[in-house]
Parts: sequence; structure tokens; C-alpha cells
Amino acid sequence: MSIDTELVSAPPEKLVIEKVSKHFDTSQGKVIALDNVSLSVREGEFVCLVGPSGCGKSTLLNMIAGLEMPDSGQILADGNAIKGPGSERMMMFQESALFPWLDVLGNVMFGLRLKPNLKDAERRDVARFYIKLVGLEKFTHSNVHELSGGMKQRVALARALAPNPRLLLMDEPFAALDAMTREQLYRDIQDIWTERKKTILFVTHNVREAACLGDRVILFSPHPGRIQEKFDVRLPRNRDINSVDLASYSSEITKALKRHLRPAGEEVAK
Ligand code: ADP
Ligand code: MG
Repeated sequence: MSIDTELVSAPPEKLVIEKVSKHFDTSQGKVIALDNVSLSVREGEFVCLVGPSGCGKSTLLNMIAGLEMPDSGQILADGNAIKGPGSERMMMFQESALFPWLDVLGNVMFGLRLKPNLKDAERRDVARFYIKLVGLEKFTHSNVHELSGGMKQRVALARALAPNPRLLLMDEPFAALDAMTREQLYRDIQDIWTERKKTILFVTHNVREAACLGDRVILFSPHPGRIQEKFDVRLPRNRDINSVDLASYSSEITKALKRHLRPAGEEVAK
């Protein structure tokens, strides 16, 4: 009886990644960016992908965004195979990639080009709403070059949120920021996730960041890119990056990371 109840109340799967492989032909030969990767993400989950550089994290996010296609396997969003970019899956990068010739409002309105049915006045109102949400109301008409790194990432976040995507794809979005700015953004992204009911896939190479933000942390290893382990982080929200409770999770994940990076054949010390 209790099992039935759980099945009925379990949130639906937002994203299903099934046996996905992807290679690139490079000047150094064939690189297997992802090898037989499978992962399901539930509606409303905050999932962090962590692993060293080159383990295929960005490649996977690009495929979910519809910017790349898998060689084999499939990716389903809301049960439909992903065929290209869409306003229900928005991406945010390490570099804000803002247009320097547009002001803050113009950049956020640009995120709404994927909503062709909106009139100009409606796009402006929606953009203003999200600019306020990320705390940049006073900077609506500022030029991009007048903003700090953290403010630029807030604009990029507003731009990604503006089309109201259910799935937010974040590729090391805070990696280039100073620690204080990052801490504020950890709080803000958790607030936005809770209030706006997003599903978030967040890539990082920072284990503590992954443990702070994720309901689950998925550990990748490189060459070929594979999922090695999955960790549930059972801590109340909002989490503070400096909380002592995070330490045991991040040390467990770090140990696993080191274990999987150990050269093949080397014994693990008992
Ligand atoms: P991560 O984001 O985890 O650092 P990437 O997904 O960027 O990893 O890359 C995975 C592997 O695929 C790396 O070895 C990288 O060099 C290679 N790769 C990624 N994109 C391309 C590309 N467009 N052309 C050639 N090789 C690529
Ligand atoms: Mg990357």
C-alpha cells in the first residue's frame, strides 16, 4: 500500500538520458567525450554534475540544450526526444556571453526571442520582472561593461529565466567569481529554485559547491567520460557553503573522485 502511494506521488521524470555516447574527432585522434551515460532527473530536482575537466560535462549539457546530438542513445525531455534548442531548456555559461552593445534590459529581452508570440511591450515587462528578481532593478539601463562579474552573471541568469524554462542548465556559472559573490549567488539560486519550481542541472568541478546545491551529486570521470557514482545529499535548505554539515558529504565525494582518477591497476589502500 505504501509503495503504491509513493509511486503515485513521485514527481514525473523531467529528463531521461539513456545510454548516451558521444565522440569527437580531434587532431589528436578520436576522443570519447561520453560513454554509455544514463541518468534520470525528476521534475523539480536540483542535480549537480561534478568531475574533472574533460569528463564530458559540457558535452552532456550541450546535448540537453539541443546544441549537439548524441552518436547513440537518446535524451528525452518531458518524454520527447530533444531535436534542437527550445525555450523550455535554457542554458547559462561560465562566461556571461552578454551583448556589449545592448544594455541590461536589451540583453534580458534577447532571451525572449525564443518566445515569438510576445509583443514588444510584454517582452519588456517580462524582462523587467526577471531583472528585479535577480536584484538588478537599479541597473536596468546600465551598459554591460559597467557591471561587475557577479552582476553580469545575474544578467545572464535573468536572461536564462526570462522565457520561464522548466529546466535550467548551468555550466560552471559561478566558477569565475570571487568567493563572496559566489556565496550570495548560492543563496539566490536556491531561493529561485524553490520559489520558481525549476529543475536544475548544474555543472561544476567544485565538490563542495556540488554538495551545497545538489539534491543529488553525479560524479563523472574522464577519458572516456562516464558516470562513476551518484550521491544523495540529505541536508535541509537553504544550505550554506560554509556549514560543517556539508563537510562529510564533500569529503566522501572527494574521496570517490580521487579513487576514480587513480591510474588503472593501482590498488586502493585499505
Ligand atoms: P568538461 O566540460 O567535463 O570539461 P567537455 O564536455 O568540454 O568536458 O569535453 C569532453 C572531452 O571532449 C574533452 O576531451 C574535450 O577535449 C572533448 N571535446 C569537447 N568538445 C569538443 C569539440 N567540439 N571538438 C573536439 N573535442 C571536443
Ligand atoms: Mg566544461
